[in-house]
Amino acid sequence: MRYTMAAKRSAHEAQVPDVLPNLTQQSRLAATGGAPATTQVVKKTVEKIFEAATTVVKQGATQAKNLVSEKVVIQLADVLVIGGGLSGLTVAEAILEKSKTLRVFVLEASDRVGGRIKTDTLHVGTSNLAIDGGASWINKKQHENIVKMCERFGVELCEQYGNKMNEGRHVVVRGQPDTRRTYHGEIPAYSLLTLWEIQYRVLRKIEILSKKVPIEEPWNFPEAKSLDKESVASYFEKKLRTAAARSALDATVMHLFGCHSSQVSLLHFLHLVRCAGETGELKTLLGTDESSCFGTRLVGGAQQICEKLAETIRTYEDAHVETNARVVQIRARNLQGDHPIVVTTADNKKYLARTVVIAGCPSTFVNQCSFVPRMPLPIERFGAVSFRGTLSRAIVVYPGPFWRGAGFSGFARNIDPSPQQCVSAVYDYCGMQMPTEGSRVRENSALVCLISGDVAVEVGNWPDEKRKESVLASLALMFPKASELSATPLAYYDYFPHREDPFGRGGPMTVSPPGQYAEFSAFRHLRKPLAHSRDTDNKPLIYFASAETSALFPGTMEGAIACGKEIALEVNTYLASVGRRRAGGGENESEQFFQEEEAGGMFVLRDDVWVATNNPTQGKKSRGGNSH
Ligand SMILES: Cc1cc2nc3c(=O)[nH]c(=O)nc-3n(C[C@H](O)[C@H](O)[C@H](O)COP(=O)(O)OP(=O)(O)OC[C@H]3O[C@@H](n4cnc5c(N)ncnc54)[C@H](O)[C@@H]3O)c2cc1C
Repeated sequence: MRYTMAAKRSAHEAQVPDVLPNLTQQSRLAATGGAPATTQVVKKTVEKIFEAATTVVKQGATQAKNLVSEKVVIQLADVLVIGGGLSGLTVAEAILEKSKTLRVFVLEASDRVGGRIKTDTLHVGTSNLAIDGGASWINKKQHENIVKMCERFGVELCEQYGNKMNEGRHVVVRGQPDTRRTYHGEIPAYSLLTLWEIQYRVLRKIEILSKKVPIEEPWNFPEAKSLDKESVASYFEKKLRTAAARSALDATVMHLFGCHSSQVSLLHFLHLVRCAGETGELKTLLGTDESSCFGTRLVGGAQQICEKLAETIRTYEDAHVETNARVVQIRARNLQGDHPIVVTTADNKKYLARTVVIAGCPSTFVNQCSFVPRMPLPIERFGAVSFRGTLSRAIVVYPGPFWRGAGFSGFARNIDPSPQQCVSAVYDYCGMQMPTEGSRVRENSALVCLISGDVAVEVGNWPDEKRKESVLASLALMFPKASELSATPLAYYDYFPHREDPFGRGGPMTVSPPGQYAEFSAFRHLRKPLAHSRDTDNKPLIYFASAETSALFPGTMEGAIACGKEIALEVNTYLASVGRRRAGGGENESEQFFQEEEAGGMFVLRDDVWVATNNPTQGKKSRGGNSH
């Protein structure tokens, strides 16, 4: 039965003794009986914590005194989601949709939700433009989950201008003005030999090879290891004779991963192609028509989806989205009670959780949080060997779309960018105004510029004016006849996530270098939860959800939602089964929380499940090489 916070307050707040001033409002309310029937376990446990701490404080016991004096706040959670990006918010909301009274927390390190999705507002004259510094495009035909979310939250979609034949010519240039070519449609203006090589020696072969990669187990087929040993660049080298074809394809990989093709495992690349929707075609990932991943944008920016999800989560009576809550430690407790995980934030808040979902780029968490017991060796290694590429955005606003007037689509590529002309791709970015009090303001005209890889890393460190100069020089190279117009924008914005987002620090997705994907991919070890050993009963402790671990369009917003929904289903099923088996359990765990020592041990693989063990000998043995 739903109940209101106001009712809870008036009935119970007055009875809270002031012994533990550091317990939060929520805990106080729960401790005094304000919790609904469905959160009785929570309530009882908080009572116990309350009693235990009160007793120990009265007795002057050092440990509990420290807890109080250090302002330790303890929250109990049925589900604790770490990361307020699209995957984390989707998990939380989907769990609550099925189990409305669960106590769910989303802890987000930064001061906003969205993670790799970031929309800023740029004020230009009287209008406000929504600027996507992070994720922006979707594939309207195949990204069903995000399209549904847009419909649900009333977010309009707009088609990428330039994708139709009659919307102007595209531009391709290789670093120098004399290499500039223009073309219509899908086939870039390369020489016939280059085009033939790209199409028949590489793209068709990549598609055929990718069909062999099992979606769910990309490491599990005969050629997996040999394909993984190779980089995408070395595959291109073997297949291609012309330097132009090699740089064109390298630029394409750069577009996807934010790094050079020499840094990406061929197996990882093939798997990404394999997971690109029903067709599993490169065209879906890279094409420039409406059925590609660059076909459609969200009017008003993509971050509003995350904000609306957070708003929805907050409407549930016992669900919380907390920003500025950076998790620093995730600890499995020695005790195997109802809340077997302790999560600690940078400001030393403690959360006792029944189950935890780590949601977002896995390598970020593996590298930034401490885990007790330590993560399984392959997951630690994955954190050490994988990395995020670098992808940045600049948006340049003009009084009018000069490129359209000159017969151009706005889509332009420089396949050999340099720090002085840093932009590798440009798209038309008109029509991104924020609606103002129900009415649309005058359309602004803008171009969005993509800056990737090592060039982005270098330029990202430059002062503002110098970065802008490099972007405008790129536009002058691509649209020389209009260079006077392109040099006089109304407004300029750029966003370099590797410099400005301390928690994301980089490109669209985690990249596996050669030789690592088969053994240490996010896919291999993070798609099953880590468990707590309970004799024969392994209780799932920690789930992972992220765009990276999705079997559908990994590394995209669609992937983040698809994976979030999948994990929510698993968590709900697990909690429902625990609820039935363990009604009334967890009576003693709060006392033990104050008394217990740090859990040691590590996770070992038992019957295909990662299981926490507190037996250091067993752990030692497994870390020596038997764990996978
Ligand atoms: C520049 C750029 C352009 C992109 N373009 C596109 C595009 O056009 N289309 C598309 O579909 N996708 C695009 N993507 C990819 C897309 O943004 C991601 O796939 C998706 O948003 C990932 O969502 P997520 O929830 O899995 O991870 P994240 O968005 O990374 O969310 C993880 C969250 O965890 C938080 N966090 C990290 N550490 C901690 C901690 N210790 N404690 C608490 N919280 C923590 C982070 O702050 C973050 O909010 C782009 C990405 C980038 C960076």
